[in-house]
Amino acid sequence: MNQPSIVRTNAAELYDAYVMKNYAKAPLTLVRGEGVWAWDDTGKKYLDFASGIAVNALGHCHPVWVEAIRRQAGELIHCSNLYRNPNYGELARRLVQQAGPGRVYLCNSGTEANEAMIKLSRLHGIRKSGEEGKCYKVLVAKNAFHGRTYGGMSATPQEKIQKGFRPLVPGFAAGEINNVQSFADLIDDQTAAIMIETVQGEGGVTMCTDEFLWGLRRLCDQHNLLLMLDEVQCGFGRTGAFYAFQHSGVRADVIGMAKGIANGYPMGAIWCGEKHAELFTPGSHGTTFGGSPLACAAALAVFEVLEREDLIRKVAANGAAWKAQLEQLAVEFPRQVAGVTGRGYMLGLRLHGEPAPYLPLLREGGLLCPVAGLNTIRLLPPLIATSEHLTLATDIIRGALRKKETA
Ligand SMILES: *Cc1c(COP(=O)(O)O)cnc(C)c1O
Repeated sequence: MNQPSIVRTNAAELYDAYVMKNYAKAPLTLVRGEGVWAWDDTGKKYLDFASGIAVNALGHCHPVWVEAIRRQAGELIHCSNLYRNPNYGELARRLVQQAGPGRVYLCNSGTEANEAMIKLSRLHGIRKSGEEGKCYKVLVAKNAFHGRTYGGMSATPQEKIQKGFRPLVPGFAAGEINNVQSFADLIDDQTAAIMIETVQGEGGVTMCTDEFLWGLRRLCDQHNLLLMLDEVQCGFGRTGAFYAFQHSGVRADVIGMAKGIANGYPMGAIWCGEKHAELFTPGSHGTTFGGSPLACAAALAVFEVLEREDLIRKVAANGAAWKAQLEQLAVEFPRQVAGVTGRGYMLGLRLHGEPAPYLPLLREGGLLCPVAGLNTIRLLPPLIATSEHLTLATDIIRGALRKKETA
């Protein structure tokens, strides 16, 4: 399997001719993956620390996950939510085990998880004010990213995301991350919820401090607001805890999940604590595809491997050592590297300049990864990556920095 395999494709020409132009032109075509590795169509092998944007938690084609999908595909793939399927119930049970007493709703993506959270907050607002349309506002953080559908996009206070698509869904206002007072100042009788990424991903790998999360919890308790944590990117073990907010000990009212949940089979989910779990009533929300037997089988396989291989504990330990290793780069290249942000296997290399010019050098060295915000290289190894893989990535990054230094 480690032989370079050249799989000639005409994907670039086909994209040019037929694919909508909503994504920046991709630099390469991937044709195969195995564990932490991915191959392009010229046979070049990369350490894949993009992980499909924090999706491939188990890396590419993990045998347990592949077998679970194969088995389920031969049994029952889809049956809609008109009927029960055993995997949905079992996955909900596992999620409740992680998050605490409550209930689960399954959908197909991160933005859909956030739509469900926003809709729940509207129902909470009605319960609070006794009337529809009176209490509906949701406070978010500047620089947040909550998705591309109308609710998620309206909750994303970034000009580059919202431009061209106004009028937006009303009712969103943005405070400053890690500034409780800026959120307190925005609360009025019409406020129903606070929605926040525990670790901002797209925005630049910026962590909420524990004090900030506790401050928001207090505000939510004082004003009867839902604390809705968007763990779409930082959840599912990525930061070295099952949910990133669990490092702080804070309690959430609603949790949104997606990316890593099923290792690349599309899935999103929300968990809602007991107190608010009955806000959705029959007919109030739904999806055709969400929670299919196949999607749930993929997610259950992720749970199985996370536990069997004790991955989350390893992510915490390896991630801390790796962060220290990367921080050394700020000492070696002080003119280029400002520092390292994030936790576990969700780290950001903060630069003094733009991150995009580094990507070709990193690819040349054999490392795939995305950027974040205006000045950050985002590092999202699959959770199966060993400390050897992490050190290899550090070496590739060091090589790119050295090239830049002498360029
Ligand atoms: C990726 C992401 C989303 C959107 O998820 P999609 O599956 O792309 O719709 C929402 N919130 C956060 C924090 C994300 O990282």
